[in-house]
Amino acid sequence: MLRALLFLLLCTVTSFAQTTLQSPEQFLGYNLGDRFTRHHRVMDYFKHVDDALPNVKVQQYGETYEHRPLVFAVVASQENFANLEQIRTDNLKRAGMMEGQPSANKVAIVWLSYNVHGNEANSTEASMKTLFELVNPANAKTKEFLKNTVVIIDPCINPDGRDRYANFYNQFGQVPANPNVDSKEHREPWPGGRSNHYMFDLNRDWAWETQTETQGRIKVYNEWMPHVHVDFHEQGYNNPYYFAPAAEPYHEVITNWQREFQVMIGKNNAKYFDEQGWLYFTKEVFDLYYPSYGDSYPTFNGAIGMTYEQGGHSLAGLTVTTREGDPLTLKDRLTHHYTAGISTVEMTSQNVARVVDEFERYFKDNTNNPVAPYKTYVIKGDNNQDKINTITKWFDTHQIKYGHPAAGKASKGFDYNTQAQGNFNLATDDIVVNVYQPKSRFITTLFEPQSKLPDSATYDITAWNLMYNYDLKAYAVAERINVAKAYQAKAVDNSSVASKPYAYLFKYQSVKDAAFLASLLSNNVKVRVASLAFTSGGQTFEPGTLIVTRRNNESIADFDNVVLKLAKDGDRKIYTTTTGFVDKGKDFGSGYVGYVKAPKVAALFGEQTYSLNSGEIWHLFEQTLHYPITQIGTDYFRNVDLKKYDVLIVPEGNYRMFDEGTLETISGWVSGGGRLIVIANSLSSFADKKGFALKHYATEDEKTQAEKKEKEEKEKDMLKRYDEAERKSVSEAISGAIYKVTVDRSHPLAYGLRDTYYTLKTNELRYGYLDGGWNVGVIKGTAKPVQGFAGAKINKKMSNSLVFGVEDKGQGSVTYLVDNPLFRTFWENGKMLFANAVFMVGN
Ligand SMILES: [Zn+2]
Repeated sequence: MLRALLFLLLCTVTSFAQTTLQSPEQFLGYNLGDRFTRHHRVMDYFKHVDDALPNVKVQQYGETYEHRPLVFAVVASQENFANLEQIRTDNLKRAGMMEGQPSANKVAIVWLSYNVHGNEANSTEASMKTLFELVNPANAKTKEFLKNTVVIIDPCINPDGRDRYANFYNQFGQVPANPNVDSKEHREPWPGGRSNHYMFDLNRDWAWETQTETQGRIKVYNEWMPHVHVDFHEQGYNNPYYFAPAAEPYHEVITNWQREFQVMIGKNNAKYFDEQGWLYFTKEVFDLYYPSYGDSYPTFNGAIGMTYEQGGHSLAGLTVTTREGDPLTLKDRLTHHYTAGISTVEMTSQNVARVVDEFERYFKDNTNNPVAPYKTYVIKGDNNQDKINTITKWFDTHQIKYGHPAAGKASKGFDYNTQAQGNFNLATDDIVVNVYQPKSRFITTLFEPQSKLPDSATYDITAWNLMYNYDLKAYAVAERINVAKAYQAKAVDNSSVASKPYAYLFKYQSVKDAAFLASLLSNNVKVRVASLAFTSGGQTFEPGTLIVTRRNNESIADFDNVVLKLAKDGDRKIYTTTTGFVDKGKDFGSGYVGYVKAPKVAALFGEQTYSLNSGEIWHLFEQTLHYPITQIGTDYFRNVDLKKYDVLIVPEGNYRMFDEGTLETISGWVSGGGRLIVIANSLSSFADKKGFALKHYATEDEKTQAEKKEKEEKEKDMLKRYDEAERKSVSEAISGAIYKVTVDRSHPLAYGLRDTYYTLKTNELRYGYLDGGWNVGVIKGTAKPVQGFAGAKINKKMSNSLVFGVEDKGQGSVTYLVDNPLFRTFWENGKMLFANAVFMVGN
């Protein structure tokens, strides 16, 4: 053993001594741009550079769902490398995220993030060239930059997606590469390499952190807080390069300095692109508004955050013929990214004192003199404890400070439940988040009741307020309220659970409760659910309460311990009763207390479904509910025996499979007891179809009106100016706005929800109330978003429309979800709604 160890040690020492720095070409054995390098080889190269040089350190910050490492490399001059910890902590001190005074030494930190979208695959290749040139002994320029600048390189934010693309290309690429875009090597199969394992767009996930890649990255990002961050992308291959300055709209929390330095960097990039005669554009398309991008998140966290876009994308392969008839090669693409990256490091290095000083000023302003109209956000302490736990844990990950006030008092502020100013009593168990802290501007973008949108033509959704997402009792207050006490989580107290009760009772109010129900079912525990409120032992229980009776669970050996352990694992409060006779309401043997059969769940999956929505469903079942799901390919759905399943989920999609015969099969399966869940645009496959109650909105009168209106609009449209085209389409669109939904809480689809539900509308779909069905969630009266932008024309149409409802059909049911409640999986209450559709509806 000892000899083996000595031998190992000797090998390490020898190999260490012998490692001399190699270029990517030398190390890989081919020129960058000749191939798409698989992720493990990229990791090998980064490790090689780490081994060869004392001033480069590669650190792992996570692992993808498919078990690929996530790493970043820190590159510094020898001198700065020796002081790296000091440089890092100086920076955090300047940001106010660490106690103490920074040293006088001013060093900038530039963070370069590559390949968040896997099939924009030049980025990772460019990262190897960038790493090498930063440390190449023959490169005098970069040596100069490193004297006052530390560079952090994340070679691949999304290794699973990137390898999906690289493997595809390596499999189908011709020799020599075929530049004709018709060739298979340019056409990735579903779902493509853009997204991660669960098919999430990681460039929409920075703030919400629903994915493991993001969770790991946000942690290390906040340990460094770079001054400049670049997120490298690719767009359609006919497009020239795009770099900063970004397009309007800019969120109003963005400072003049952040605008100014984007222009300075952009001009420096332009200088190099001009020298080579490369085409580029700036100030268009890519705006800074939605806070969950790789440019906006850093921007709202004090950095100069930018997106760079090379023309290319998955259609470009190794080489492609562009519209102008010219070849565009992988080598061209990576050279452009490399050039823009190094130029960014150069500009930062040349302005290091200003960059560091402005960074410090940004955070001083945040802490001492925040400009936001609302200075404090109050989350009431009596909100559902699961929601409070989830949101406070999320605060921690972004290093947002919160806690309890010193004392209670009469207060007033914007009430998120009424969308109006109102009075309320601040209580000592309330949670206070004020904007006098380093994350001030980020907090404002997330919680302000109404964000200014200077220009409605944004790239993404215009509303995301977490108060609505969680449906919290909360207030935005103009006054500063200080945190006086550290947050004290209310722990679940199960110290006095009676042994061997007649039944165990569990309240059902959050996604955690739904996951707990799933765990009971997975463990063969038979569960009943109260459809009406009841009182037992002095406690009131709402509809949806889970009742686990001893009766019917006799077959489970050690029944009590199984239930107690699952409750403990799920951190659930346990109520017990010695009798099925309730004080008020229906007894446990009543017909009003349903039995929840563990459903066998299937979801359509594959080419005809939208990968994003399919991924959201997949992720929910595996990572949140931990409940089995069978994903059935849309290409062989016809050959599957539907009778094996209780629930069929139809994600958003582009369906060709729902012909008359298939719809008839599904309709028959529903009548026989199947539960169909249909989401957003897939509703159109069922609307106005035989066997389904869903109807497109519009009465005859409205139709005539609409036709007349449409004709007028068309005429107006024909006369519109060429440059107004974009504006026109905006008035038709909903760019992700939040609407208030009136809820019928007595229906199982609404168990655990409150009287209102806030829905994030990301589409213009519109359906009338179900005739003969249950209109569980509707927009009653005149529609008006509580937050976000909705085009005037489309907004009108949303009045008196269905948001979610259930059609009972024979022994089964169809649940219609007009808005996708799992959109990016950040809508906390949406997950509850969806779980109800799976477990609660139809019992
Ligand atoms: Zn991209």
